[in-house]
Amino acid sequence: MTERRAPTLTMKLESLYALGQIRCAVCAERLTEAETQWDHVHALVLDGPDVGTNLRPLHIACHARITARLARDLGHIRRLTGETQKRRSRPLRRRMNGAVERVSQKES
Ligand SMILES: [Zn+2]
Repeated sequence: MTERRAPTLTMKLESLYALGQIRCAVCAERLTEAETQWDHVHALVLDGPDVGTNLRPLHIACHARITARLARDLGHIRRLTGETQKRRSRPLRRRMNGAVERVSQKES
């Protein structure tokens, strides 16, 4: 007889997807794992922490929409504060997980 083990976090997440319990934090519709991206509630570009408690599941399209709005709002803020000239050499980029971050000075 094989030893019984506690379910892993991956197994628990699979179960929640199968039960339809994972919903988009923007539109509240059910998500499948394939259409899920994980968004930082407190954006990394605004010094949000890169931890699980700062993540929320979103549709790819919903994520793209709010990320575009964030980028636009950050652009407005930078123009208003005159930050644009100082940070011109450090553009924003989107990571594979959909999060927006500033390109580090080493890379730019
Ligand atoms: Zn959505």
